[in-house]
Amino acid sequence: MPPAAASAGPAPADLLPPVVDQVATALDGRFDQARAMALVRFMDQYWRLAGNPGFNATIDHIKGELTAAGFADGAEDPRTPHVWVESYPAPSPGWNDTVGTVAVQGAHGQAGTVVLSRAGQRNALCINSFSTPSGGITARLVDVGDGSRSSDYAGRDLRGAIVLGDAEASTLWDEAVVGHGAAGVISTALGVYVRPEDANSSERTPRDQWNVLQWNRIPYDPVRKGFGFKATPKAAATLRRLLAAGPVTLHVTVQSTFTSGPDRTLIAEIPGTTRPAERIVMAAHVQEPGANDDASGCATLLGLATALRQAIAAGSVPRPARTLTFMWVDEVRGSRQWLQDHPDEAAGVQYMLSLDMTGEDTAKTGGTFLIEKGPDPSATWPRPSDPHTLWYHAGDAAPRLKGSLLNDLHLAVCQRYGRRTGWVVRTNPYEGGSDHTVYIEAGIPALLNWHFPDRYYHTNLDRPDKTSPLEMQRVAGATATTALLLASATPAQALAVAKVIAAAAGDRLALETRQGADIIGAAADPAEARVEEQEVMDAWRVWYIEALGSVRRLPVTPADPALTSFIDAAIAKLER
Ligand SMILES: [Zn+2]
Repeated sequence: MPPAAASAGPAPADLLPPVVDQVATALDGRFDQARAMALVRFMDQYWRLAGNPGFNATIDHIKGELTAAGFADGAEDPRTPHVWVESYPAPSPGWNDTVGTVAVQGAHGQAGTVVLSRAGQRNALCINSFSTPSGGITARLVDVGDGSRSSDYAGRDLRGAIVLGDAEASTLWDEAVVGHGAAGVISTALGVYVRPEDANSSERTPRDQWNVLQWNRIPYDPVRKGFGFKATPKAAATLRRLLAAGPVTLHVTVQSTFTSGPDRTLIAEIPGTTRPAERIVMAAHVQEPGANDDASGCATLLGLATALRQAIAAGSVPRPARTLTFMWVDEVRGSRQWLQDHPDEAAGVQYMLSLDMTGEDTAKTGGTFLIEKGPDPSATWPRPSDPHTLWYHAGDAAPRLKGSLLNDLHLAVCQRYGRRTGWVVRTNPYEGGSDHTVYIEAGIPALLNWHFPDRYYHTNLDRPDKTSPLEMQRVAGATATTALLLASATPAQALAVAKVIAAAAGDRLALETRQGADIIGAAADPAEARVEEQEVMDAWRVWYIEALGSVRRLPVTPADPALTSFIDAAIAKLER
């Protein structure tokens, strides 16, 4: 994150228009923390997957909350806030589980010991696992060790066996079940940020990390009809300790169902007064089993939509000139489908804000609130000031850069909010992977509100006790404030935003000059480093010239001379 005092001028957050504090205060008082937690708990009952009962119950439940809060069901009068559901064919069957148990049988006095179960570990069974015959199956356990290389399997008789390995479940599946006729697999794979040995370095290490697993899927395979499990470190250690003493036989019981229903998207809108075809989109994904990922995003979005609706109805905040659109989707797929199905509406989308993992209780999960910025030069060139998160897969294609006001405006709004409340706000370069990616690929400026690292990410322990309603309220307040400003900026407010962007540009160039000099000074080949640093500096200049230019389109009434001349002068300064 660029330090606030990088250049001599005022910090971007000081330059925001006064309406920002007004809106934030009006929304803060209207965010219903108890309702947000009630939705998190409701969704926590289910492993939500497109087309399955938990996914559909969630869509219906949120729709009910929105209609109770004054959103009209359907769109008889398109000028009033309304809510509706869109359906489209799911590309693969929905899946639901009721039983998934692995028990040790016939091993050295350990008969009947359950090592993994739905009651004990919740999400141990992999998505797309088929039911076993009633009464379950009994099979020998074979440990292939790492399991990611073909040589781990060579010359071994795995027919009908259950294969234990450290590779991801789908890798084990391809090698062991498809390649060697195994009945099923047990994977011990666990991300670095949730492993107990890493968590142990912190004094706050929860003991439950030995009972953690990262849920996952195996390929849908109606021919082999096998199963997969994810093991906790404790279960993996138990199985390997028993194998060290002799042969192990497991008893596995699975009961699951596949559904063929459609995929669904819930959409609510507060229509714009004078520019209804121009939209600001906010989205959260429904699928996945987690409380933070992403029941918290769904609850944050519900809370901000209802708070905005109430504040507008009470006259505490202006009615937006542009339309505010709220979507609860099947991640990525639902966003892509909406853009495809509504080309006219899609062409009018000005900005998009994604809400994914917005409710972390940071004292428990470990990471802070993050704004994942839309692609800027820090996504293309590694900068010491802008570290990637542990989630990032190095080598992913760098996205096309196009400067926009969105990153710095939302950061300034969050920082201003944080200053009043002690909220910690950081940023990370673009990494992709949630709904903002779809909009960015469509050329629409977008960013992600999230938290990372999270030692419970994609695990069975991502439950409501790891979420914070206050954190959701903060993300909701800041996101709604940014969205409302984007949807209703007057020329005077747009001028303030132009000053925010100009200040951010000044801070960034000062920061890059400083850290560029350090990089050149430490380089083995300073001449080469100098060339690259010049490239980085040029990229930031171009990016900020475009970002300042994007403010011209922000006001909802024609731009006035004061705004135009400020932007012209700020751009001329960057071009020098
Ligand atoms: Zn997510």
